[in-house]
Amino acid sequence: MLNTRPAPSPPPATHDAPVVVIGGGPVGVRAAQRLAAQGHRVTVLSAEPYEPYNRVRLTPLLSGEAQFGEIALPDLKEAGDGVTLYEGQRVVKIDRAERHVITADGAVWPYTTLVMATGSRAAVPGNPGTDLPGVYTFRTAEDASALVARSFSARRVVVIGGGLLGLEAAKGMRRRQCSVTVIEHESRLMPRQLDDAAGARLADNIRELDVEVLTDTAVKQISGIDRVTGIELSDKRTLACDTVIICTGVRANIDLARDSRLSIGRGIVVNDQMQTSDPAIYAVGECCEHKGRMYGLVGPGYAQAEVAALSISGQHQDFDGSVPASKLKVIGADVFSVGEVEQLEVRANVRSHVWQDDQGYRRIFVERGKLVGALGVGPWPQSSLVQDAVQQGLQIYPWMLFRFRANGLLWSERDDDPTAMPDSATLCNCTGVSCGQVRGAMAGGAASVEAVGLQTGAGTVCGTCRPLLAEMIDAGAKPEPMPLWKPVLALSGVAALAALYPLVAGNVPLPSSFDADSLRTWLWRDNIVKQYSCFVLLGLTLAAMVIGLRKRFRFMDRLGSFDGWRLAHIVIGLIAGAGFVAHTGFRLGDNLNLWLGASFIATVGVGAIAGLATGGDHELRARRIGSARKPPRKLPIWVHILAVWPLPVLILAHVLASYAF
Ligand SMILES: Cc1cc2nc3c(=O)[nH]c(=O)nc-3n(C[C@H](O)[C@H](O)[C@H](O)COP(=O)(O)OP(=O)(O)OC[C@H]3O[C@@H](n4cnc5c(N)ncnc54)[C@H](O)[C@@H]3O)c2cc1C
Repeated sequence: MLNTRPAPSPPPATHDAPVVVIGGGPVGVRAAQRLAAQGHRVTVLSAEPYEPYNRVRLTPLLSGEAQFGEIALPDLKEAGDGVTLYEGQRVVKIDRAERHVITADGAVWPYTTLVMATGSRAAVPGNPGTDLPGVYTFRTAEDASALVARSFSARRVVVIGGGLLGLEAAKGMRRRQCSVTVIEHESRLMPRQLDDAAGARLADNIRELDVEVLTDTAVKQISGIDRVTGIELSDKRTLACDTVIICTGVRANIDLARDSRLSIGRGIVVNDQMQTSDPAIYAVGECCEHKGRMYGLVGPGYAQAEVAALSISGQHQDFDGSVPASKLKVIGADVFSVGEVEQLEVRANVRSHVWQDDQGYRRIFVERGKLVGALGVGPWPQSSLVQDAVQQGLQIYPWMLFRFRANGLLWSERDDDPTAMPDSATLCNCTGVSCGQVRGAMAGGAASVEAVGLQTGAGTVCGTCRPLLAEMIDAGAKPEPMPLWKPVLALSGVAALAALYPLVAGNVPLPSSFDADSLRTWLWRDNIVKQYSCFVLLGLTLAAMVIGLRKRFRFMDRLGSFDGWRLAHIVIGLIAGAGFVAHTGFRLGDNLNLWLGASFIATVGVGAIAGLATGGDHELRARRIGSARKPPRKLPIWVHILAVWPLPVLILAHVLASYAF
């Protein structure tokens, strides 16, 4: 399944040595791309024997939703001739004095500057039995490949660890028809990102997929003699199984740094420019430790790669730490977490507010009026804004909390429109790409999710943000005019002028003397004609109302497109307007008649505005008035609908008053 390639021999050592990157994981590859963009010659030495791949996408590989070719990282050749990648080259020694590294086959690779992007490996706990056949980890393409092979014979799988990786591994094996149990020793799933209530919601979602979840449960040992037969729990229960997947966290690959006497803690210690204790050696990604913090996410690693590349090029930029944020689909459920929520739960002065309904659970943490963290399970349309607010330390006002408790939203719905999101809001967590960067790419001509992804990297890692990205591109693209927009615009313009006429010019006076040949006499002095015009007007008004309901009645789909019916509605409304003039001459009378006339004119007037906003929708949206999600016609259409409802009652009362009594 995985393509391995023979390792080529290293280039001859020259004085013009390249920047060497150790590690072809996502962050190493990003560092190489950025260094190449700054004009450096770069050599990437990657221990894994196949082309660099997107580790985040190992999950779809395991579940069978993607093939290996589909999870590859962008080809480094696209970064230019200056980058050379050597696969299957494990660095075993760094000679800092001579400024070269040595790979397992003894080859020597000189460097001017070294970038360590050695990442992490799966952390395996010390319980007995972890070395038995049938025990797996889930970190590399090789692990995923082994698990896929195992899934054909596995029947009962136990996943140790209820974090993101454990759940994704469980999903992958369940999709392959294995019976799966997840064991988590803490009280909830994803303990670092969620609280108990959110963890319980997630557990319910997962149980719906027929995956058993055991929280508050610790493993004592993995049992079996020459293969796994079960798991012994610390409460003395035993779970029979033939396969165990250990997903209990990661450990940074720091052995090489330790052997080279670089400063290390849990990771390779770096300063704000990502420099290690040797100024010629940088470290980025999961292997490094910055201000005592390590990040198990790819987004901060990308930011570090950017900073290191700039620093190596002599430009100064600091990495000032990242607020941990994840917005993921975990086994089909939206999971959102930003900030150190595990600590926030117990920190003094931090108040939390919860909103929940059948669909989801949301919790925010506020410290001295500022949003400092949030978590949720289920859809949360404002999660990008919330993340931005946490990262910017934005002030939260009492009415925002009031709204949050009422409907789970901190801002009005208008603000979660992609067009309204601030430039600083992070759109893609995996790559750290902001809305502003996406807008920049769009302004430069990128008009599709793929094109924006190619320029910025957004949406190319886990893919969770791609729908939002598509919405943003859709909203930013020059909107297409709707069918029949010209007649809609023209007829609505006429209707608007007709509705304005009585306000500007007043009414049409009655003829002062009886002139049998006069149209005005015929229309307004002849009772029979007045009756006719009244009933025609009534019929037209009802017809326009029924057609206006066209969108609500699916069966009318068979009678032609909605665009045609919309035009018919406007035409009939306009004829009804003419009928109104013929019946009243804009003389509205008193009491009931006045109400009826005013209501009719208001309905036509607002309808005309709705028609103008509909026909000119593309021009308005191009001028950022409204958006695809909130079209500018929405409000006038609703006012038009509201205005029309009293009409039938008033007309009926008018008919009864005028003709019956
Ligand atoms: C299944 C899975 C799902 C994930 N999902 C997400 C997610 O949704 N969102 C998210 O943000 N993060 C996710 N992560 C975490 C993310 O993959 C890591 O944060 C990211 O891969 C770190 O990148 P890196 O380049 O620093 O390290 P790594 O990806 O670990 O790459 C390091 C590379 O260096 C190589 N190497 C190590 N030592 C040497 C040496 N001596 N010589 C040469 N090469 C060496 C390794 O073989 C490896 O190829 C997920 C991880 C996994 C496994």
